[in-house]
Formats: sequence, structure tokens, C-alpha cells
Amino acid sequence: MAIKLLSDEVINKIAAGEVIERPASIVKELIENSIDAGASLINVRILNGGIDEIQVEDNGAGIEHDQLTTAFLRHATSKLAREEDLYAIGTMGFRGEALPSIASVSRIELYTKTYAAAGSKCLVEGGMIKKLERYPTAEGTKIIIRDLFYNTPVRKTFLKSPVSEGNNIYDTVCKYALAYPEISFVFDNQKKTQFKTPGNGILRDTVFTLFGSDMNQFLIEVDEKGSQFSLQGLISKPEYKRNNRKLGFFFVNKRPVKSPILNRAMDNAYRGLLVSREFPVFFLSLTAVPESIDVNIHPQKSEVRFRDEQTVIRFVSGVVKKYLDTSEFRVGNHFQTMNRPMERYVRQDPPADIFFDHPLLMANKESAAVMEKKEEFLNIDRIGESSSNFSVIGQLLNSYILIENEKGLYIIDQHAAHERICYNHILKMDKASYVSERLILPLALDISSEQTEAIENYNNILQELGFEIDIIGHNSIVVRAVPSFVAGNELAVIQNIIEMLKEGETVSLKEEILISMACEKAVTAGTKLSYQEMYKMVRELLLEENYKNCPHGRPTMVNINHSDLQRMFKR
Ligand code: ADP
Ligand code: MG
Repeated sequence: MAIKLLSDEVINKIAAGEVIERPASIVKELIENSIDAGASLINVRILNGGIDEIQVEDNGAGIEHDQLTTAFLRHATSKLAREEDLYAIGTMGFRGEALPSIASVSRIELYTKTYAAAGSKCLVEGGMIKKLERYPTAEGTKIIIRDLFYNTPVRKTFLKSPVSEGNNIYDTVCKYALAYPEISFVFDNQKKTQFKTPGNGILRDTVFTLFGSDMNQFLIEVDEKGSQFSLQGLISKPEYKRNNRKLGFFFVNKRPVKSPILNRAMDNAYRGLLVSREFPVFFLSLTAVPESIDVNIHPQKSEVRFRDEQTVIRFVSGVVKKYLDTSEFRVGNHFQTMNRPMERYVRQDPPADIFFDHPLLMANKESAAVMEKKEEFLNIDRIGESSSNFSVIGQLLNSYILIENEKGLYIIDQHAAHERICYNHILKMDKASYVSERLILPLALDISSEQTEAIENYNNILQELGFEIDIIGHNSIVVRAVPSFVAGNELAVIQNIIEMLKEGETVSLKEEILISMACEKAVTAGTKLSYQEMYKMVRELLLEENYKNCPHGRPTMVNINHSDLQRMFKR
């Protein structure tokens, strides 16, 4: 067989397969071209999920008349001259693939005008320029894509329903609107305007337009510049959460990206504040020096690869943690479930909460001197009680401790509170005190072969923590020793660990095990406590780091202040 070069038409169709999976990929490419052309207004209109028609109109630089033929040639670009530029961040497009690829699988009508010239109209069909003429039109570019995949019927059958393709386009336009708050994006579906972002450069206003006012009040501004990276945007306070990652947006050097690495950084940052399967909302723009990233790994460029992943994770989670810590904690929000409008709980001017937010209370190392200082601090401006500024009112349902101070009533979940204390205690113990205690009667357990295998795989971590577990055959284990602070609860703890291993979520197995140990150790709901016990527990809790949440992320306390009471009694 003779070896022949592929025709341009075939090459373009192959490329189209890579660049254009669905209508949303066309929208993405066209929006990027408009952004590169310096537009401040981009209008996207679609019919029938973009399958019948996609229009993208911008007020950017336009294309010169005699450049139009070239623009539709493969690998023709005005943006990239040298190979090094591939890694620079100046423009979105750089492959010169989009226009020829789109042209090869659709019918295109294009109007464009630069500042200096009269304007042009261009018709392209199946990759061939059918008509090119001078034509009076508005400055900028308007490109209309019709009959997508008309000449590749097989590709067309892979499209989803118009509704689902339309939703995908909606998401795409949203992403770019969030990445570029300085550009006004208008999105019309079936001739109805879905949104118009202000384009005033203020991210919060863009978020407001796209997602409404409810979310806005829970967003904290982040703005941090480092030497290699900087991070700007909005993150949600822990009390505002979602059950999926859909409202977590990352932009790296202004490109919307998906990144498991960055997700991990966020999980780290919110650990202890959200429980598993709860996710924060965020719109975060990471700026990285070009050398530290590679955007060129995927034709659709929605993935990003970092040269040094650990550094990125440390930077992002560090910054986010810092901003979460400094934002004030609004206990009132736990009343959301009472179906009241959330706005009511926004305190117009948050009181400086010296009792709960003093940096000393956040300190990590518990040296005797620090402890003393803390005690001293608690003694400042006490109310009534002999040695502290809170007083215990009593216990509710044998499960909640009621205290009051000048901020009003606090309801403290005794189990969550004790769990936090035990967990921090375990964390603070050094390696040496992870003393293994031999069980007088070794604990034999029958488990599934899957579970046995999991124990085998993680036995080194378990050993490190002070467990000694022998695997006896496929279906049973013998626990011979456990960390001393687990002794007495070993059965429950081991069962928890086995469950955990089964779920296979091993991101932070050690931490999960420690949490489970703390949980088993902690006093349960329904346990009657004496006043001394309650007092001691609350006092200890308030001295702990992260005392507002239990290690699973649930709140340890809820506050009802004077104005909450007034509202409840409609005074
Ligand atoms: P790339 O964006 O990778 O350069 P494209 O095929 O998307 O490749 O576009 C080819 C060229 O057409 C661009 O380099 C640019 O010069 C021009 N172009 C495309 N769309 C526009 C637009 N909306 N406004 C101005 N110029 C455009
Ligand atoms: Mg492009």
C-alpha cells in the first residue's frame, strides 16, 4: 500500500475530534478568542443546546480582512511565535486549532471589524471559505456556528439532549464570567437572557449576579501574595456548605481549571470545619509564575499540572486556613435549620469576641507558662463566678451543658465538646506516650477477607499508633495490644477502624483513627454530669485549639444572645 499524506480536510476533522467534543467546547474556544481580542463585553447566544446555533459576539479588536483566510488555516495563530511562549500566560489560545476545527464540522458565518478598517463578512462551510466580502458591521467580532456535526453524523449521535448540552454551555459561560469579572458576559438561551454580569471587575458582584444574595454574605475575601504564587478570590465560611464540589471554582492564571491537587488543598484547609461529604463554596484565582505550571497537557486545557505539587498544596491550604481563622464565627447560623431567613443572623457589626477569639486561646503548644497565661486571661472581666467568666446553668436532656456569660446563653454538646478535648489530647501526646497496652485477653474477631486484606495493608500505620494485630488466615484477626488510651474501648475502636478501611477513603487514615479513638473515649450523650464535671469540661474546652468544632466538624456549641431572645419573643 502506498503511504500518503492525509488531506487537510481529514486532518482538521481529526483535530476537531480532539478540540470539539460538544457544543460547550466550541463556546469555550470562542469565548477565549474574544478574551484574547481584549473584549469587555461578550455575548453568547444559543439555540437548541447549541446544536442548531451558537453565537458569540464581542467588542474586541476584530480580525483584519486579509487575515481571515489565514485564521481558518490549521496552526494559524497570531499569538504564539516561539516555543517558549507555550508556557507564558499572556493569552488563552495558542494552538491555532480552534477556528479550523470548528469550521470543519459546521457552517460558520462571521462578521468582524477592526478599529481602522471597514469590516468583513465571511462564510465557511465544511472548512472551505465560501464567501469573503467587505461588509459594514460593528467593531469587534460576531461568529455564528450552525448545524454542528452536519457532515459527521456519527459525532452528532454522541451529543446529549439539548437541555444537557445547554446546561453545559451555561456552566462554561459562568466559569469564564467568574474568571474575568472585568468582562461583562451576557448569556441568552432560546432568545431569553439568562444572566448579564456587571463586568465591573468586582468578583463579589459577579457571584451575586450568578448565584444570588444568599451565598454572598457567607463569602470571605482572600487576597494573599507570595513569592511563587498568589491567591485571590472568595471562600465560604464553614457554616455555608454544599454536598458536592460544583460550586468550587479554581482559576490558574485566569484559566478555569479542574485540579485534584487544589481540591486536596481545600479539603485540608476545611478539615475539622466540615464533616465528610460537605464541601465549601469558593472562587479562587491562583497566579503562578509560568515556570511552576504546565497548562499545555490537555487539548482542552482544563487541567493544569504543577511542577511541585506539595508546595502548591501547602500554599493554598495555608492561605485559606488563615483567612478562615481570622473571620469571625457566627454561632447564630446554626439556627438556619429553623427555616428563618438567613440574613437575620448576620450581625451588622460583629462584636469583638475577646472571650472566644483571643489569640492566646488559639495557641498550640501547651507549655505550663502558656496555660497559666490563659488561666489569667480567663480571669479578666469575670461575671459573678469565682474563677471564670462563665457560669454553669445546668444540664439539658443529660446531653447538653448550659452556660451563660455576657454574650448570653451557650448550649454545649457534651459529647462533641469532650470529643474535641480528647482528640486534642491525643494529638498532643508525643510518640513515646503512644504506649501500647497488651490486652490480658487478646481480642479475636471474625471479619471478611476484604477487611483482613485492608488490615494487612494498613498494619504498619496501626502499629505506629500502638496496635498489635495478627492476621490469622483469611477471615480472622487477633488484637493483642492497643494504644493505652484506647484500652477499655478496644472493641468499638477496632470495629470503627475496620469500617473505615472498608470504605477505602484513606486520605488521612491516621487522623480518622485518632478521631474515632477520641469519639469512643468521649462521654456520650445521655450521661448525667455533675456541676464540677460540666464546669471542668467547659473550661478545658475553651482552652483547646479549634474548640468551636468537634474533630468531625460538627459545632460544639451554639449561642443564643440577647437579641436572638428578643427576636424569638418578638419583642
Ligand atoms: P488561537 O486562538 O489558538 O490563536 P484560533 O483558531 O482560535 O487559534 O484563532 C485563530 C486566530 O484568529 C487568532 O489567533 C486570532 O488572531 C483570530 N481570532 C479568532 N477569534 C477572534 C476574535 N473573536 N477577535 C479577534 N481575533 C480573533
Ligand atoms: Mg483560540
